[in-house]
Amino acid sequence: MSVIDEVIEKVKSKDKDQPEFIQAMTEVMGTLRPTVDKHPEFVKAKIYERIVEPDRAIIFRVPWEDDNQEVHVNRGFRVQFNNAIGPYKGGLRLHPSVNLGIVKFLGFEQIFKNALTTLPMGGGKGGADFDPKGKSDAEVMRFCYAFMRELYRHIGPDTDVPAGDIGVGGREIGYMFGYYKKIVNEHTGVLTGKGLDYGGSLIRPQATGYGVTYFAAEMLATRGVDFKGKAVAISGSGNVAQYAVEKVTQLGGKAVTLSDSSGVIVDEEGINAEKLAFVMDLKGIKRGRISEYVEKYPRAKYFANKSVWDVIKEQGLHIDIALPSATQNEISEDHATALVKNGVMCVAEGANMPSDLGAIKIFQDNNVLFGPAKAANAGGVAVSGLEMSQNSMRLAWTSEEVDARLRGIMKSIHKASLDAAEAYGKKGDYLTGANIAGFIKVARAMLAYGIV
Ligand code: GLU
Repeated sequence: MSVIDEVIEKVKSKDKDQPEFIQAMTEVMGTLRPTVDKHPEFVKAKIYERIVEPDRAIIFRVPWEDDNQEVHVNRGFRVQFNNAIGPYKGGLRLHPSVNLGIVKFLGFEQIFKNALTTLPMGGGKGGADFDPKGKSDAEVMRFCYAFMRELYRHIGPDTDVPAGDIGVGGREIGYMFGYYKKIVNEHTGVLTGKGLDYGGSLIRPQATGYGVTYFAAEMLATRGVDFKGKAVAISGSGNVAQYAVEKVTQLGGKAVTLSDSSGVIVDEEGINAEKLAFVMDLKGIKRGRISEYVEKYPRAKYFANKSVWDVIKEQGLHIDIALPSATQNEISEDHATALVKNGVMCVAEGANMPSDLGAIKIFQDNNVLFGPAKAANAGGVAVSGLEMSQNSMRLAWTSEEVDARLRGIMKSIHKASLDAAEAYGKKGDYLTGANIAGFIKVARAMLAYGIV
């Protein structure tokens, strides 16, 4: 039995109650097989065994009061997975589904993603099982303060630098940073995704959506095609999805779908700049539902209680490119089969692990360009890294400068993934290439430190 199978079996038996972590770990480990023979030094130092075990997982109580003075208790998490190449770095997710297994899967992914960005960042993730939906501003503020009241002692600009993820945007980062600053009495780059007035970076809000589109454009270019005239399915309607629509439209593509937890809109005429501005306002300050899109634009269609991928399957909608940007496991094997049937040639993951293991196999078996999350959506954390650099230097770059760096980083991730895939005998396989390229960098650093 190879070391890879041993590690997979051990994690499966030790972390039985963490299906998302098992899935992410199985996907990564499965693709690391070609590294075992080439790197006996990794095997000897038990790097494979060590990398699946977080440095530490912090679990804490978050008590807060709602607007009626009723007390609520949520569970907070921060998993500091690996800091071999830099301070722990990764977002905070606020969603009722958050548990240790989900935070571990996200933190594990973050190790390799962050390594791919070329910037010095380790992997971590956190969050709480708090549901921001329907909460007042004051309730969100009190929750964020209560969360930071414990988290502050575990983080720092050279230790661990959290950011946003699902349910955590500019508002939440503002409350958390404000509270950190108050109790630690330091104005440092301890969080990223900050507002521009207090240390944030230009292009950070756009970074993940632009990045995933740049990555898809790089993949398409290997086949001599581009976004012009292509029908693009995008799921979600948060920060990633919104800026993916913007960049796709700028590159000449036609974004035709968006979704939220209540349903999907299909606009076959394309979600142009004016319609996107409506969505940004609706989903931003108004915190409304995507169903309102069809009230404003009645030629679009709304499908309640479905995902984008259900609708594509059921309606037989023709799609050239898919940018899943909602959440994990939104695309099943069945969805993937329908996408292939309906013409998809390229899938780039804006969300973390949106395709399950069966779906990935369908894409790869059918020669679909498949850009895995840790490569394709790394633009967000990459610009977080650039925000850290600007904070340390106490200066701010222009949006042109940050965007140019983002573009350069996405190009370099694309190349590193292809190069590693080829070097390890899996030419054109972005999944294997991205995992190996990220892993090798972290593994080498771990090796240098000895047995710690
Ligand atoms: N949550 C984002 C991700 O999944 C961004 C993390 C960050 O900027 O630290 O990569």
